[in-house]
Amino acid sequence: MIKFLDLQRITQKYGEEIHEAITRVVDSGYYLQGAENKRFETDYAAYIGSRYCVGCGNGLDALIWIYRAYIEMGVMQPGDEVIVPANTFIASILALTENGLVPVLAEPRYDTLELDDSKLEALITPKTRSILLVHLYGRCAYTEEIGRLCQEHNLKLVEDNAQSHGCRYTDGRRTGSLGDAAGHSFYPGKNLGALGDAGAVTCNDKELADTIRALANYGSQQKYIFKYTGRNSRMDETQAAVLEVKLHHLDEDNDARRAIARIYYEGISNPLVTFPDYLKDEQNVYHIFPVFCEHRDELQEYLKEQGIQTLIHYPIPPHKQECYSQWNSLSLPVTEKIHRQELSLPISPVMTPDEAREVVKALNTFKLKSN
Ligand SMILES: *Cc1c(COP(=O)(O)O)cnc(C)c1O
Repeated sequence: MIKFLDLQRITQKYGEEIHEAITRVVDSGYYLQGAENKRFETDYAAYIGSRYCVGCGNGLDALIWIYRAYIEMGVMQPGDEVIVPANTFIASILALTENGLVPVLAEPRYDTLELDDSKLEALITPKTRSILLVHLYGRCAYTEEIGRLCQEHNLKLVEDNAQSHGCRYTDGRRTGSLGDAAGHSFYPGKNLGALGDAGAVTCNDKELADTIRALANYGSQQKYIFKYTGRNSRMDETQAAVLEVKLHHLDEDNDARRAIARIYYEGISNPLVTFPDYLKDEQNVYHIFPVFCEHRDELQEYLKEQGIQTLIHYPIPPHKQECYSQWNSLSLPVTEKIHRQELSLPISPVMTPDEAREVVKALNTFKLKSN
């Protein structure tokens, strides 16, 4: 069977280094807020191309802290609007509603799956304070037009970089350094994944970084002095040590994903299956390899019979979820079409070219049962 993602094999790839790193932490006697966090934060900030990196508990928290810090700094207040793609993982939206901010759901383009920048200006109101740009599936969603809109309307550009570690915009800058602040998730299945939960914020603004560091540590900048009503959202030293190991192999891992993607692009020829717009290699780190099919569920079942595991990212869009019942009757046709047709093929840095060719072969033999 070809697994969608073989996490055991991914960890085994750097197993020796990872075991060494964990042993170092175990033996050190320091398990939180120590040298491992400091080192990873420094190296990850340098990798992304940001001045500051603040580790935290997970990717959702990273996004929550960015907006909470802007509220504490007086840059935004509850009730303000934030434009966010309607086709995203729910965490992007949760980060806003958690802070009392109002998500304004924007439709993506069907061919790129990214925000349709030609439709954004119409969504900007006097209450708009920010665009939350999601680099979905490993792609870079930034455009010059989005940068221009943020400048012109004085909006904070926040990036959700949970799925695009290592990806670059056309000018060479990495996603996570293109806006005012970025949230990163190191959930195990992400391109840079920990062995548990972890996340980080990158930014160039010292006040923002300091505020976030305090918020994630009970609201404290100085021991037993509490400036904010914060929470406990810190990165374990063990996770920082593991992430440091994997950070050094991230580009190599992303190249391995690109090699699999190339086999898919070149091999898949079934007219029932289409791809989103192809990007230049450096603009995609292929966290997910999405294809579209009008008969998606039938295709998924067929691939399963052929021993190929696939997933759907995501089966139900946020505006159709029970937790956001206020939006359930909204009509967002592009978002809904993507959620109806999307299927994610197996892709990972440990998948072999032979396995990818097997997926291609199976996809190309898919026919509709009804015909
Ligand atoms: C994974 C993910 C998150 C949340 O990260 P966690 O570390 O799981 O909390 C946020 N946004 C997107 C787009 C994600 O894929």
